[in-house]
Amino acid sequence: FINKINQRRIDVCEDVSKFKFNKKRVRVISEEEDFCEDSNGVVYWMSRDQRVQDNWAFLYAQRLAMKLEVPLHVCFCLVPKYLDATIRMYGFMMKGLAQVEKECRELNIPFHLLCGEASKSIPAFLKEHNIGGVVTDFSPLRVNVKWVDDLKNALPADVPLCQVDAHNLVPCWEASPKLEYGARTIRNKIHNQLGQFLTEFPPLVKHPHPPKKMPQITDWKKADGSLKVDRTVLEVAWAKPGTQAGYKMLQSFCEKRLKHFATARNDPNKQALSNLSPWIHFGQISVQRCILTVRLYRSKSSDSVNAFIEEAVIRRELADNFCYYNKHYDSVKGAYDWAKKSLALHKDDKRPYLYTRDELEESKTHDDLWNAAQYQLVSEGKMHGFLRMYWAKKILEWTTSPEEALAFAIYLNDRFSLDGRDPNGYVGCMWSICGIHDQGWAERAVFGKIRYMNYQGCKRKFDVPGFVLRYKKK
Ligand code: FAD
Repeated sequence: FINKINQRRIDVCEDVSKFKFNKKRVRVISEEEDFCEDSNGVVYWMSRDQRVQDNWAFLYAQRLAMKLEVPLHVCFCLVPKYLDATIRMYGFMMKGLAQVEKECRELNIPFHLLCGEASKSIPAFLKEHNIGGVVTDFSPLRVNVKWVDDLKNALPADVPLCQVDAHNLVPCWEASPKLEYGARTIRNKIHNQLGQFLTEFPPLVKHPHPPKKMPQITDWKKADGSLKVDRTVLEVAWAKPGTQAGYKMLQSFCEKRLKHFATARNDPNKQALSNLSPWIHFGQISVQRCILTVRLYRSKSSDSVNAFIEEAVIRRELADNFCYYNKHYDSVKGAYDWAKKSLALHKDDKRPYLYTRDELEESKTHDDLWNAAQYQLVSEGKMHGFLRMYWAKKILEWTTSPEEALAFAIYLNDRFSLDGRDPNGYVGCMWSICGIHDQGWAERAVFGKIRYMNYQGCKRKFDVPGFVLRYKKK
């Protein structure tokens, strides 16, 4: 499976320095556009897309470095704390990065783990190594946008900084120039551009201009010691970090679960989902690679392939669109007017139950299905996709206000879910609690016009006692 992927990359490109790079993937962030000819290197500041192959930002950086005949360096800026991430996520990320480092070295590309935010650590690195310019990847989240802005302001005026959207198939700024209303308004915009963007990746090659001296291998233990994160939320065994493990998950999805995706993806007792979100979130696997691979199964499972493209491309890229164009992407302020009005109208409705954040975290509600879903999240670091909707909607029903509900849902999702702290997570919570990308439904208490879900509905859809039995809190 992996050999076939490698072969396909080689097949597309005889001379890697001449492959055609779609310039729409790149935008220049700095005033200066041209990479300095007499520098000693190019830097790829890796951030959201933590992989070597199938990475348009890395490929673009190598292409530049090859043109200029200089070394290519990869820098990753490790911050000691990121939102509500715990050691569960940091462990997954850092083990994945250790594999990136190894793969980079095999390609004559030094990997540097820098400590602290990019605006502090990268300018000093550029000076020390006489670097001619920086390429980075793209995330629409505000912390990451600020990192890029701060770096731009901290760089000397003659050092160019460009950004490549290596996460989305259609670069976020090309998919749509504005905030989209929902899947129905962005779907065609994305599908119409897939012809030019959904292409095979050329391989990243052994870099022909190695640095004079390779840096020492990163002391990952020391790096771990620099973290200031909660260590009580433990790493999980089922999700092995790194690109190779991501490919294995993709393989098992294609061979075993994909055929059930169209019909059984809403049943939490069935094995039908890809389970790829942790690797996708950390950029350890490229969604474009997943789509190129899944598409090969079209003749066997056409409906499932289409359903997977709808989730992994349309829904996911819609989430990036929301976070990119709506600065209130994680706040009730970011909801549509109809939803804000409706939620406000029902703010004083009597809640059937009220729970604190701790009670929710510890699965201490009256609802055995909700408790089991929460326990799946806490113990496995991922909740089934269908249950995530039920889970968040019940938080709206059982807390004092939509604002509190949203804050609790985001906190729990970001703290326990390996794929949390992601546009998909903010949009998933906003969809469930504030109706974004959805329409108004029949009015009812607490929810107003926000779509409602209930226990009886779940019972009609799947074997609730079976799920509860599997995830009963020990
Ligand atoms: P699959 O169904 O196999 O889908 C494959 C990929 O498609 C996913 O990995 C994801 O990248 C994308 N995708 C699937 N469903 C959606 C969706 N509804 N919206 C956007 N992208 C989607 N997704 C996250 O990646 N991180 C989160 O933190 C997150 N939190 C959520 C919270 C709530 C309240 C809700 C309702 C949804 C959330 N989602 C989140 C979206 C979705 O539930 C997950 O992407 C999915 O369950 C991940 O599992 P999978 O990879 O097995 O999914």
